[in-house]
Amino acid sequence: MDAGTSHEGIPLTTIRVWRELGGRGTVLGPLFRASAHPADPPLPTQSPVLQLLLNAEVFAPEALGLQNVLVGGGEIVWMGTDVPDMPNSLGVTVEDLQGARMIPGFVDGHAHVTGGGGEAGPETRVPCVPLSKFTSAGVTTVVGLLGTDDVTRTTGDLLAATRGLVAEGLSAFCYTGGYHLPPTTLTGSVRGDIVHIDRIIGVGELAISDHRSSQPTLDELLRVASDAHVAGLMTGKAGICHLHMGDGERGLDLVRRALETSELPARVFQPTHMNRRKALFEEGLELVQRGCSIDLTAFPVEDGEDAYSAEDALERYLEAGMPSDQISVSSDGGGCLPTFDGDGRVVKMDVGEPATMATSLAELLRRGHDLDRVLPAYTTNTANLLRLKGKGRICMGGHADLVVLGPDGLPQDVMLAGVWHKRGGKTVVFGTFEQSGVMNV
Ligand code: ZN
Repeated sequence: MDAGTSHEGIPLTTIRVWRELGGRGTVLGPLFRASAHPADPPLPTQSPVLQLLLNAEVFAPEALGLQNVLVGGGEIVWMGTDVPDMPNSLGVTVEDLQGARMIPGFVDGHAHVTGGGGEAGPETRVPCVPLSKFTSAGVTTVVGLLGTDDVTRTTGDLLAATRGLVAEGLSAFCYTGGYHLPPTTLTGSVRGDIVHIDRIIGVGELAISDHRSSQPTLDELLRVASDAHVAGLMTGKAGICHLHMGDGERGLDLVRRALETSELPARVFQPTHMNRRKALFEEGLELVQRGCSIDLTAFPVEDGEDAYSAEDALERYLEAGMPSDQISVSSDGGGCLPTFDGDGRVVKMDVGEPATMATSLAELLRRGHDLDRVLPAYTTNTANLLRLKGKGRICMGGHADLVVLGPDGLPQDVMLAGVWHKRGGKTVVFGTFEQSGVMNV
């Protein structure tokens, strides 16, 4: 038991509020969860004061209009159009957001928190991604993973980087494995890692249709996906197999065959980078109809490239009338974005940035899309697929991971578990080594 929570995992601030308000059911009823979900992040040990945020135009992601939002103990303890009558003894701070748009923090389902890369020699290993690269860009929940380099990078290293981010205030989870089979693990099996290790919620990014993959066979894919699925059943965690899609012509063939020849539910297979090739994206639409969720990467796309930007792909997806809850956008932050020649040599290299989720959403707003229509792909959809309770939504009892957008549609203020990490466009909380000169950001 830590200082900020009761023995039942209920934030002490919440209990204080409940007592002061005489336990008004409509106000605090939804908060009393019997037990924390196994994938829930720990609540903050130092609960900030109660904060009442007035006149936020809330997108939950549904458009809820102007709302007053009361935050305490790392959660949203109340939300409504009235101004609640709060006793002075509670020490509430009140702030008027003057109609600014408030959205849930971004849920980034694919980031190389340890740094990815290494495709062109050890000097191309990308450094660890520091806290504020995520938080200043509005990312409040992240899933870390290993990619091409699952040899010099290990599951233990990834888990430590993930736990480091959690200690610094971010909600962070990770996958076991990496591009290759047999998968790199900590306990010796994918199932063991997901069952025994709190932060590990699935397996990935397992590479298919890529020259950098281990060229997995159908049986190999089924074995690893079933391990993830069964471990998910045992723990209540996501239990998914997050698939890195390469540029190969085989596209989603292996996934279709996995669905046709096994009893595994379609939700277990989540292919990512689905906008990297136009034909692959079209294949993805068909896979969605079979029940899978697909993930887009918000990477830069140049004119004339055989790829869609995440914005273009999401636009096409929604215009085609596809189910709005089976698509997501992630950043590939910290990952290496190499361009290969015909012999598989790297000819150019970029590094993925967590900020691309925010710039991608802002671009969709600039194009005139309704925020409530495009926002689920950046928030709720990933939280739901990954079974991250309290994440990706603004609601009573949900985690107080909030982003206030500026007039340009970019994150201006960012709150994680009730703590402001960015205010008025300036980052105010940094990771351990970010300001020491050890790490340049
Ligand atoms: Zn990848």
